[in-house]
Amino acid sequence: MKEIVPVPPAIVRNDYESIRELFTKNVVPSYGRFELALSHGAGSYVFDVAGKRYLDLGTGIAVCCLGHAHPAITEALVEQSKKLIHVSNLYFTEPQGRLAAELVKRIGPGKVFFCNSGAEANEGLYKLARKFGHDEGRFEILTATNSFHGRTLAGIAATGQDKVKKGFEPAVPGFRHIPFNDLETARAAISPATVAILIEGVQGEGGVTPATPEYLLGLRALCDEKKLLLLMDGVQCGHYRTGKFQSFQKILEGEVGQASSLSGLDRQGACATNFLPDGLSMAKSLGGGFPIGAFWVRAPYQDLLNAGTHGTTYGGTPLACAVALKILEVIEQEKLAEQAQKLGAWLKSEIERLAKTYPTVVKSARGMGFILGIELAEKIPAFAASDKTPALQFVNRLHAAGVLTVPAGNQIVRLLPALNLKPQEAGEGISKVEEVVKSLA
Ligand SMILES: *Cc1c(COP(=O)(O)O)cnc(C)c1O
Repeated sequence: MKEIVPVPPAIVRNDYESIRELFTKNVVPSYGRFELALSHGAGSYVFDVAGKRYLDLGTGIAVCCLGHAHPAITEALVEQSKKLIHVSNLYFTEPQGRLAAELVKRIGPGKVFFCNSGAEANEGLYKLARKFGHDEGRFEILTATNSFHGRTLAGIAATGQDKVKKGFEPAVPGFRHIPFNDLETARAAISPATVAILIEGVQGEGGVTPATPEYLLGLRALCDEKKLLLLMDGVQCGHYRTGKFQSFQKILEGEVGQASSLSGLDRQGACATNFLPDGLSMAKSLGGGFPIGAFWVRAPYQDLLNAGTHGTTYGGTPLACAVALKILEVIEQEKLAEQAQKLGAWLKSEIERLAKTYPTVVKSARGMGFILGIELAEKIPAFAASDKTPALQFVNRLHAAGVLTVPAGNQIVRLLPALNLKPQEAGEGISKVEEVVKSLA
């Protein structure tokens, strides 16, 4: 179906220019922004200030898990804000207690701490690890190359990508990187100071790379053997994006009963059916666009961060928790996890079809559920003239076609749709992606 996009009148076009001017004059230029000013949205569609409509397959980088302007979120915000927005963690509030219980129910025995962002949730995990190892003088956390853990000072030290560290040295001490999905190197990297290993279940910023089941089970066994905490960053790949609440639940799903074939790993308690990390960070989709972060700590360590050791003013406000509770309710009622799993599998098969049909443009399909990557081929001739990365140029062409996506690295374009994306919208997205791919072939 061809969409008729009205040519914006000059006065409207000036809205973008005037907004950009406000940014140029007043906003710290730490982001490379696209030439788009967005004004409103509904479901999986957003509109720019000129009135052009986009199918949003990026959802603010895996955040707006129910799309835009969802009535249930609006209602939760309105209703809770009439009662209490914030009281501080000097007091108990029901929404925070209930949300913690809902998260524990979905992950496993343990407790939850609430904060405001992914970087802050990971920061809590670093502190948990330091507290855990403190009396033995252990403090070092191993993280993966190509990982992403946020932009705080400790976050960029943890992140396994040089580009986020450059210019901010000296790095916070106590982080070392190991290659992802490589168990033997992880084992060899452990020093007497090592206290924890932190990985993403599916590397997001690094280019949509899932951990293998063997890696997860192997790290669990290794951490048990060496008395290390196994920490997982579920900020991007969590919250049902893979089809299960957490990515490790999805990755290990097919492994049930197969642990014994994994050369004795099960004897060390690392079998797929009872796999749990020791700490897990969440944010992004947890609040569907309302800022909230959290980390879960497995039962044996759940009281390590005792009174006075950690805190944040806004962590777990009644308002944020009411929104997060409502989102979980909608996901469950509308069976959106199954939707993400099924529709995600279809999207991936379509990207695989594009890779077969247009191998000079699309190299492969990556990921699972609604965390997917289109890996672009090397040296696409149409991209040679610009010094922008292929991923950026592809994303820009998709903007022109009316689709929002998110680049990851130089070669990968991410699809991170809302969990309530409709089949017909997925179809529209793929045909627009195919249009762009075709024009490059
Ligand atoms: C986005 C992200 C973070 C950082 O979250 P913020 O809310 O931006 O601080 C951390 N880890 C992963 C895997 C992420 O994708």
